[in-house]
Amino acid sequence: MFVAQLSFSAKQLDSTVGDLVKELVHFSYHQGLIVHLENDIIYSKNGNIILQCITPEKYKFDTIDRSYIFGKLEELQVSITIDYLGEATFAPDVCSCANSGFYILLASDFIPLTCGICGNAVPLYRIPPTYASDPSYYDINCWNKVNLAWSSIEFYSVHEAFAQKELCDIQSHQNQQALAIRDKIETLSGVECYYFIEELRHINNLNAETVDICPGCEDKWTVCDFSDRYELKCKSCKLVTNGCI
Ligand SMILES: [Zn+2]
Ligand SMILES: [Zn+2]
Repeated sequence: MFVAQLSFSAKQLDSTVGDLVKELVHFSYHQGLIVHLENDIIYSKNGNIILQCITPEKYKFDTIDRSYIFGKLEELQVSITIDYLGEATFAPDVCSCANSGFYILLASDFIPLTCGICGNAVPLYRIPPTYASDPSYYDINCWNKVNLAWSSIEFYSVHEAFAQKELCDIQSHQNQQALAIRDKIETLSGVECYYFIEELRHINNLNAETVDICPGCEDKWTVCDFSDRYELKCKSCKLVTNGCI
């Protein structure tokens, strides 16, 4: 992944342009061109508005739908230059497989889709948009952000048990949403997709006899043979996890 710098210059840089830049950030985020929204930096320097952000690959901003926000900026005679400042060394690598074989939907600080072959992140724009009314990945990104929020609540607050249930119980709203998104990814991309469900050992009141049972079909988990990142899989439910046998 790379740190990209977008510079916006115009005769008059006012709050209208500033608002459009902020809108561009959100638009690009939901199209998968910007990841990890919290790391974006917007500032002004020498009469330009500068946006620094993390993007999965170089030169992908040209693929954005320019008819909307870029069009509005052009109407205001705002010129845009894009520079790539270097690799985002703290971000995961991006998949370069010719064929991923299958994907894994897995909540992440960066991209919640992983290649089944190499284990690296798959930019969302490589799959067809999953959110039809505004061609984007709005549903995947929203699910991912909520998942990260639940993880924070689990870790930092007194509502740990409630957050664990959302993350670990397959019937929770969060996990049911994940399964629906996973199915949508498969249908739209034609590529098989597993879902990583949080560690089962975190569920309260789970006893040793049931811990090795897949929550989807109640058959036993099998050892995951396609990646050493995950311990267990259920092929019929297309789930992976790091549980304990
Ligand atoms: Zn790959
Ligand atoms: Zn199962």
